[in-house]
Amino acid sequence: MEMLSDRVKNMAESATLAMAAKAREYKSRGINVISLSLGEPDFKTPKHIQEGAKAAIDEGKYFGYPPVNGYADLRQAISDKFKNENGLAYGADQVVVSNGAKQSIANIFQAIINEGDEVIVFAPFWVSYSALIELAGGIPVLVSGSIESDFKVTADQLSVAFSAKTKAIIFSSPCNPTGSVFTKEELLPLAEVILQHDNVVVVADEIYEHINYTGAHASIGALPGMLDRTVTVNGMAKGFAMTGWRVGYIGAPLWLAKACNKVQGQFTSANCGIAQRAALTGLTTDLAPTIAMGQEYLRRRDFVKELLDEIPGFKTNVPQGAFYFFPDISEYFGKSDGQNTINNASDLSMYMLDHAHVSVVTGEAFGDPNCIRLSYAASEEDLREAIKRIKEALAKLS
Ligand code: PMP
Repeated sequence: MEMLSDRVKNMAESATLAMAAKAREYKSRGINVISLSLGEPDFKTPKHIQEGAKAAIDEGKYFGYPPVNGYADLRQAISDKFKNENGLAYGADQVVVSNGAKQSIANIFQAIINEGDEVIVFAPFWVSYSALIELAGGIPVLVSGSIESDFKVTADQLSVAFSAKTKAIIFSSPCNPTGSVFTKEELLPLAEVILQHDNVVVVADEIYEHINYTGAHASIGALPGMLDRTVTVNGMAKGFAMTGWRVGYIGAPLWLAKACNKVQGQFTSANCGIAQRAALTGLTTDLAPTIAMGQEYLRRRDFVKELLDEIPGFKTNVPQGAFYFFPDISEYFGKSDGQNTINNASDLSMYMLDHAHVSVVTGEAFGDPNCIRLSYAASEEDLREAIKRIKEALAKLS
């Protein structure tokens, strides 16, 4: 018997997690798959953060239910971080700590969306945005940047996407999957358009803040008039190599922080106490490991870009942050190795898994069916070998 709800039946599976599962299955059959499909730092959580968690266990004070929105000292540290690093004056009572930025975003959409409300999503976009909007009864309205515009949406494009039903706008900068980074100068005209519309919230996903090669991270919430309109999402996963600890957080207008607190109180009660203490260590101590990881990602971006440029039919932008390339591979559509014909990006991803033993993710999942996403959060050795294999496998297509 199967009696699934329509809600779950209609829900898209996470394409990135699905591809990772497929890669694991190939590996379990003894196939040497190089996985470039997950957005997962290949670094270990910095030692001093591990020590922070151990000390918290030894203290013995953090085994009970934490406050729903997070420990007060952690929320204060996050409030300070927002003020000092981002120019965002969210008080500690405007901060909610959650089980990853993914839950932060889920909470926000549950808190603001009524059935049929629209959310403008800058595309290409991170896979979970559309699923989480739909799960809350909303409708994603995609506004697409193209490779020619470094995948960035312009103010003109944004201005025509609004309707009477628009509730929110969401985008990530640095962007997963394109690596694009909005500068302050590029955010200003977007903010001007947004300020012409009342009752629209901006969800600014800044989880890749520390993996930014432009030298300056810009927060849209710090622009004139925007703080009351913006919920800023961030977390420990990427910049601190803490994906498995599951700590994300928001700074939000008070009414929205309270609503997220209410949603979270019913869904998960709170975020793991020990993980919160580890996050506090990360946010209040030495950023040197975070900065060093960012520099290493930049070094990889540069050599991966050179290697990808040698593959015929791969068109890429130059990512300014995060750790992904999002090449346009549409030149391969219609090509065949005599047995397999490539009709779309999903076919090409499967072809790469089968014939190069490299896992990547189809761009369809991110709102651009001409592209695939490769993560370069992998070792130099694996990256060089993976791209060599991809090049050889694609050479068989004509
Ligand atoms: N936003 C973006 C743009 C991401 O890429 C990710 C992780 N892939 C998240 C949010 C979720 O992060 P977390 O692991 O903290 O849930």
